[in-house]
Amino acid sequence: MAKHVRKFLIAGNWKMNKTVGEALDLVHELVLEVGKSTDVTVAVCPAFTCLESVGRALEGSTIKLGAQNLHPEPSGAYTGEISAAMLRTLFVNYVIIGHSERRQYFAETEPFINKKVLAALEGNLSPILCVGETLAEREGGKTLEVVKRQIDGGLVGVTAASAERLVIAYEPVWAIGTGKTATPAMAQEAQGAIRLLLNGHLGAAAGAKVRILYGGSMKADNAESLLAQPDIDGGLVGGASLDARSFIKIVQAAQVQAPKRGQS
Ligand code: PEP
Repeated sequence: MAKHVRKFLIAGNWKMNKTVGEALDLVHELVLEVGKSTDVTVAVCPAFTCLESVGRALEGSTIKLGAQNLHPEPSGAYTGEISAAMLRTLFVNYVIIGHSERRQYFAETEPFINKKVLAALEGNLSPILCVGETLAEREGGKTLEVVKRQIDGGLVGVTAASAERLVIAYEPVWAIGTGKTATPAMAQEAQGAIRLLLNGHLGAAAGAKVRILYGGSMKADNAESLLAQPDIDGGLVGGASLDARSFIKIVQAAQVQAPKRGQS
């Protein structure tokens, strides 16, 4: 059986940053520099308020649009929430789900996150399901146990047919926004274990199609060695995605690595 080659995905999570004007400044630079990238998929995930204008600015480029959250219900009395269909009408492709900040500050539970993953898939979006351990969990030797609980909980009801759209982001909580990065070996160990879990859920052929991103203080100077690992299929980038230069350098690092894993 031919080995499946996963195309790198570099996605910027802008979090609660950038007004519309600031977002457009950033995205115009990205379109100029990496807006024709085909060997690496590039995506930006602005705040809801910027989705429409950023989406328009991305027209004609290969850069994809992502959102940072969605509500699992299709419509109804959920003040302040946004549905999958609302995102699709803005030409959103990706949606970040279960980010550690949402788990921590908004008390999102595994079953709720699972409903969001299913709603995203049902709504024709690619969910980026975030998993990862806290520092205490890592120091307590619980990393793989935590990641297994989050993968098992997040993927209930997800089938092999969704594999190409499904994205997992391994984001050790202690590395997010701290400047501390997992070493390539640490990230590969966790992501290799995630691959085995995916194989168990979806079957090996489908598991091989799921992209697993690394997230946690990814920067231009550590991106290449992280992306050289066999189960690191891209990055979910927070802080470094807010600055065009640093985000572009990460995309370029992926472009250097891409041919080495058989991408062209
Ligand atoms: C994130 O929040 O998804 C993230 C990876 O942030 P940072 O790159 O700033 O650590």
